[in-house]
Amino acid sequence: MLREMTYLTVPIKVSRLNDSLDEIGRAKGAGAEAVELRLDYARGKLADGEIQTLIGSARRLGLMVLATCRPEWEGGSFKGPEQQRLEILRQAAAGGADFVDVELACFEREDFDIQHLTGADLAKSGIQKAKLLLSSHDFNAKPVDIAERLDRMAGFGADVRKIAYQADSIEDSFEALDVLREFSAAGQAVVALAMGPAGVITRILAKKLGAFLTFASLVPDSETAPGQLTVEQMKGVFRWDEVGCDTKVFGVIGYPVAHSMSPALHNGSFLQVNYNGLYLPMLVEPPRQRFQDFVDGMRQRQWLNLRGLSVTIPHKHNALEYVRDHGGQLEPLAEKIGAVNTLLFEGDQVSGFNTDYAGSLDAITNTLGISRYELKGMSAAVVGAGGAARALVAGLTDVGAQVTIYNRTVEKAQVLGQEFNCQWKPLEQLRQMDCELLVNATSIGMHPIVDASPVPAECLKKGMAVFDTVYNPWQTRLLCDAEAVGATVIDGVAMFVNQAAAQFEMFTQQRAPLALMRKIVESQLG
Ligand code: NAP
Repeated sequence: MLREMTYLTVPIKVSRLNDSLDEIGRAKGAGAEAVELRLDYARGKLADGEIQTLIGSARRLGLMVLATCRPEWEGGSFKGPEQQRLEILRQAAAGGADFVDVELACFEREDFDIQHLTGADLAKSGIQKAKLLLSSHDFNAKPVDIAERLDRMAGFGADVRKIAYQADSIEDSFEALDVLREFSAAGQAVVALAMGPAGVITRILAKKLGAFLTFASLVPDSETAPGQLTVEQMKGVFRWDEVGCDTKVFGVIGYPVAHSMSPALHNGSFLQVNYNGLYLPMLVEPPRQRFQDFVDGMRQRQWLNLRGLSVTIPHKHNALEYVRDHGGQLEPLAEKIGAVNTLLFEGDQVSGFNTDYAGSLDAITNTLGISRYELKGMSAAVVGAGGAARALVAGLTDVGAQVTIYNRTVEKAQVLGQEFNCQWKPLEQLRQMDCELLVNATSIGMHPIVDASPVPAECLKKGMAVFDTVYNPWQTRLLCDAEAVGATVIDGVAMFVNQAAAQFEMFTQQRAPLALMRKIVESQLG
C-alpha cells in the first residue's frame, strides 16, 4: 500500500511579512500543495502574531503548512539561543501549523522539553496540536546509520520522519530511494532526500515512491538546500501531476547532464501522447565501473520500473560494453560505430542501439524529400572525425554514399576513412571539394564563437545540400552562408530531434510527436 499523497512543498524564507505573504500566494499559483515556513531566515524578532498571519494565509489557500526554524548547527540560519528557537516553533504550533519540524539531534538533548512544544496546554486552549516531523540532515556525506536514525525518530513518536544527506555520487541516492520504497509500502510517512546534483533523482522520484513530501524552490537560485529544482520544473518538466506508482522510468545518463534538453523533450512528448513515463537527468561520473554500478543498481530495484535510457558523453562506449557484458542484443551499426546512445530494458534483458546515425540520415532524407536508398552514390563531404562524424560516416557509407572525410588532424580522418572504406583529406583541401552533400561534424560555429564557419563561403554552391550538426545556435554561420547561395540547408536541431524521436519510439512503441519535439528544442535554445 503506497501513501496517497506526496506534497509538493515550497520553502518560504520568511522575511518581511508582506514579502512572505506574497511568496505564499505565488507558491500556490505555481502549483505548490504545501509550504515550509523557514522561520530561521527571519532577520530579528518576528512581531507578535506574524507567524500566525503567515500560517493563516497559507491555510486559507488550502496549503499544508510545515514550520521549520533550523539552527546553524544543523545547516540552517537561526543563530539565537535555543529557548528562543523553540518558542518560535511553539508559536507556529499554536498558530495552526500542520507540522513542526524538529531536529532529531535536538530531541535527543536531555534538556529538550517536548511538552513545551506540542503538549497538553495547546490542546486545552482548543488549538489543534501540530504534528511532529523529526528530521536529520548531513550536509557533508551519506550517514552510515540512516536506519538507526529513522528508528530513533519513531521512538520519539514522530508523525513524519525526514532524512536528508549530501550525495557524493548518484549511487548515494539508492539508500534514500530504498527508504522511500520501504516506508511508503508500509503506509508510513517519510521524507528521504539525497542533496546536491547527484541526488536530484530522489527529489523527482519522491511522488512515484510515495514520499510524504518533496521540496521545490519558488524561483531559480532561491533553494534552501542543494539540488532543489523549481516548482515550475517539477510541474512543467517532471510531470508532477501525472506521476504515480506505476509510472515507467527513463532518463539520460551523462556527465555533465544538468543542461540536457532531453528531459524537457521526452517528458513533454510523453504528455502529448498520454504515455505514463517519467524521464530523469542522471549525473553519472566516469569511469565505466560507475556507469555499470549505477545501471545495475537501477535495474535491481524492479519497483523503479526502469524501461530505457539515453546515453551521452562520456558513456556511449561504456553503454556498448554494458550490453556486451550482460549478453544483450546490440544493433550491428551501433557495434560498428563503437557507441550506444540508447538502452532498452525488458525483464532481465538489455539491448543497445545508436540513434545518432539514424537521426542524421533522417534529417537529410526528410529535408531533401528522398528515401535512404536514394542517398546511394551521392557524393558527401564530412568535415570532422570525432564522435558525431563517426556516426554520420557509418550511416552514410552504410547506405552507399561516396564519402570524403576532411579533418584538421588528418591522422584521425585517415583512421576513420580506412575503417569505413572511404576517402580522407586534410581540412585545407576543403576549397577543392566538389560534393552534393556537405556535412559539418565539428564544433566550429557553436556557441559562443558563432561567427566561425568550417567552410569558406565561396566553396558553397546552389544545388548543394548543407547540413550543420551544430544546434546551438540552430542557424549557424555556415547555414546562413549556404542559404545565401541558394543551397538546401539542414540544421542540427533536425538531427537532435530525430535521434530523440527514434529513442522515443523505442521507449514507448508510439509515433513521436515531431513538431512538438522541435518546438520544445527551439524554445530550450531560446
Ligand atoms: P568531438 O568528438 O570532440 O570531435 C570534434 C571534431 O571537431 C574533431 O574532428 C575536431 O578536429 C574538430 N574541431 C574542433 N575544433 C576545431 C577547430 N577549431 N578547427 C578545426 N576542427 C576542429 O566532438 P563530437 O562529439 O563529434 O561533436 C562535434 C559537434 O557535433 C558538436 O560540437 C555538436 O555541435 C555536434 N553534435 C550534434 C548532434 C546533434 O544531435 N545535432 C549530436 C552530436 C554532436 P580534431 O580531430 O583535429 O581535433
